Amino acid sequence: MSTPLATFIQDPNFLDVLYIIAFALFIQGLRGLSGPTTAVQGNRIAAVGMAIAVLATLLNRGEGNWGLIALGIVLGGAVGVPAARQVKMTAMPQMVALFNGVGGGAVFLIAWSEFRRSGGYTHTATYITIFSLFAAIIGSVSFWGSNIAFGKLQEIIPGRPITLGSAQQFVNLLLFALAVAAGVDIAAGDHSEAIFIGMLVCAALLGNAVVLPIGGADMPVVISLLNAFTGLSAAATGIALDNPALIVAGMIVGASGSILTNLMAVAMNRSIPAIVAGGFGGGGAVAGAEGAGEHAGTVRSTSAADAAIQLAYANRVVVVPGYGMAVAQAQHAVRELTKELEARGVEVSYAIHPVAGRMPGHMNVLLAEADVPYDQLKEMEEANPEFQRTDVSLVIGANDVTNPAAKNTPSSPIYGMPILEVSDSRSVIVIKRSMNPGFAGIENELYFDPKTAMLFGDAKSAVSEITTELAAL
Ligand code: NDP
Repeated sequence: MSTPLATFIQDPNFLDVLYIIAFALFIQGLRGLSGPTTAVQGNRIAAVGMAIAVLATLLNRGEGNWGLIALGIVLGGAVGVPAARQVKMTAMPQMVALFNGVGGGAVFLIAWSEFRRSGGYTHTATYITIFSLFAAIIGSVSFWGSNIAFGKLQEIIPGRPITLGSAQQFVNLLLFALAVAAGVDIAAGDHSEAIFIGMLVCAALLGNAVVLPIGGADMPVVISLLNAFTGLSAAATGIALDNPALIVAGMIVGASGSILTNLMAVAMNRSIPAIVAGGFGGGGAVAGAEGAGEHAGTVRSTSAADAAIQLAYANRVVVVPGYGMAVAQAQHAVRELTKELEARGVEVSYAIHPVAGRMPGHMNVLLAEADVPYDQLKEMEEANPEFQRTDVSLVIGANDVTNPAAKNTPSSPIYGMPILEVSDSRSVIVIKRSMNPGFAGIENELYFDPKTAMLFGDAKSAVSEITTELAAL
């Protein structure tokens, strides 16, 4: 291309302007993601930013094979768009794992192709070689680790920890040391592609070896950690390719992934090194957990009609949603029920635990979808002191996040995890289908509290039944 227009749109200064616009949109988009009202728009703004960054990169790399690029976009779009549209909210962690894996895979493939293109980094500045090797190792760890995380959450591979026992830490360290040694050898001037491939294989095995021993319940935290890794490796690739968009986008992903990992770990009272060392949350019964039936015979069950009376005569009701509400897609039914209560003058609010459901913000997104007013959503710190003046806590498909064992039973695997203190309220109604445990695989002491009544059934139908009974009162 040599027309004045072509010269202008390929001018590096023009491309820099496009990149700066893209970064501003990323940051504005991220700001939008901080609240449920602005999240959708934030996502759109960031997507426009990304489209501009991709366009600027394609203009910059005018020498690229346009046919292949178009084919990649069409194939990626054909797989990604329907997958993202059809995924259920409860399957979102798997989806994120898969997409994150794709990012890590792209990063290590770019590093490999740069290695080949430059003839094993001949005439490449050492710092660029180092960033490229860093991207190759971390990208490969992230790709394989994310795929294992996807497999565990999708139950293609068992959610329970799969470990090599006491040899695990040694094997992990050995793989890490081998990958780094291969990287150092290449940075020192070895042009051998076999060494490069060996480095990728060690990193791939490391990705498997780190994630396989981690139990299903910790998996969303691991995905967030791997997400941060992919971001950092993409930023390193950006430095190697001299692409500012990749550096900025990678750093944003790396920073936000790290912050999210920390928030989730704190909310579950888990340290990140402890999660990576593995051993908690097999998704089934956890070793050492109190056995179900220990308190057998002391559970009180109730009916929708009785629950409706109890709620109708309350002054203040707090709804505590959990994973079961998401699975049952009961959020609209819940909104109908609370509207009916409000019409009767009952003060209603929702108490949201930071890890209720299977991903951060899960409950907020669902309740926003059902038009629940945001000022009624109370975070744990705000909700807990209010339970004492609450007549009825209505727990809908939430289990672990209400379990008093986290406060009272030092031997419990969730001991120390902050919980919603629903047992402080005057009475509790729990809607779930059975006495089965939640994700942590442990019995909930709340169900044996004399103040608690269990309404057994699917969350959506049970809530709708209560609403019908309420309307008939
Ligand atoms: P839980 O997994 O503890 O409990 C959910 C309950 O919902 C189950 O006990 C189940 O009981 C019930 N349920 C399932 N389907 C239905 C249905 N159709 N109708 C009614 N009830 C149903 O969920 P919580 O939200 O309380 O806790 C979240 C858990 O996930 C915690 O252990 C947390 O640490 C973990 N986690 C969360 C992350 C996050 O970021 N949000 C990240 C990582 C882990 P039953 O089968 O009897 O119906």
